[in-house]
Amino acid sequence: MNSLLGSVLVALLGFMVACQNAGGDVPGTESLAQRAERPSFRAAEAFAHLERQVAFGPRVPGTAGHGAQLEWMRQFLDERADTVIEQPFTHRTAAGDVLRMTNVFARFRPEATRRILLLAHWDTRPAADQDPDPANRRLPVPGANDGASGVAVLLELADMFARQLPPIGVDILLTDGEDYGPDTEDMFLGARYFAANLPGGYRPLYGVLLDMVANRNPRFPIEGYSNRYAPDVARRVWEVARQLGYADVFPAQVGPTVQDDHVPLNQAGIRTINIIDMEYPYWHTVRDVPENTSPETLRIVGEVVAELVYRGG
Ligand SMILES: [Zn+2]
Repeated sequence: MNSLLGSVLVALLGFMVACQNAGGDVPGTESLAQRAERPSFRAAEAFAHLERQVAFGPRVPGTAGHGAQLEWMRQFLDERADTVIEQPFTHRTAAGDVLRMTNVFARFRPEATRRILLLAHWDTRPAADQDPDPANRRLPVPGANDGASGVAVLLELADMFARQLPPIGVDILLTDGEDYGPDTEDMFLGARYFAANLPGGYRPLYGVLLDMVANRNPRFPIEGYSNRYAPDVARRVWEVARQLGYADVFPAQVGPTVQDDHVPLNQAGIRTINIIDMEYPYWHTVRDVPENTSPETLRIVGEVVAELVYRGG
């Protein structure tokens, strides 16, 4: 290009950036250049968190693995967050069993009024009822993807937040009893309890749920309830993914509608989207193991969420 045309273009680009800055409070109008520098998401560490959880054994309420994981998460977050609140609760199942469960709520910059909520379930399903082999259907799900993956990303993000404080407040909620089942009356237990017992005046800008975020061939279309309850939040998240170069993994089209922990939160007025991959071939089977998950997928999801946080929500 010739230099005159070049300087006109530079001036024009400068004008466009100025216009975008003026609209900086409107979601989706910031330029990439505006964002604060932030650490990269460490996929190897996140994958180690995933493997660690699976090594505890199934994290079914009442089991040794469940207790060991709670202790580990508590210690991990105590060392990194400003505040860690445990929320114990009990639930009587349709079968008459009483489950003792605990949500873990870790806060960064608890004084900030502008904040977002990140959540994932930490329990695993007691029975692999989707396993192709009927003999396996009474066995517990190892939960590498369904349980450990979301927690792995959020714990690694907690470490990032401790190293470089985000520009907004962030809360990490690890819910218990999401996947107990077999039916929905005995599912989403921790999210329901949290939604019914919100901290006084708790009003995050929005919530982001991570569930099954480690498939080797990931695909995260916009989940149906997310699109219904929080379409602007979904647009924001999927646009950030596109800007980071992940439009193929985060296609901006509506996919399956999935009952999950974001539903009780949306019903309680916290607009929450769900990043979930329902095409995972080992969902609710005994083959939901680390070998069938990928650190690269954890990295992509971790990068998208980190980008949202360090852009200020
Ligand atoms: Zn599940």
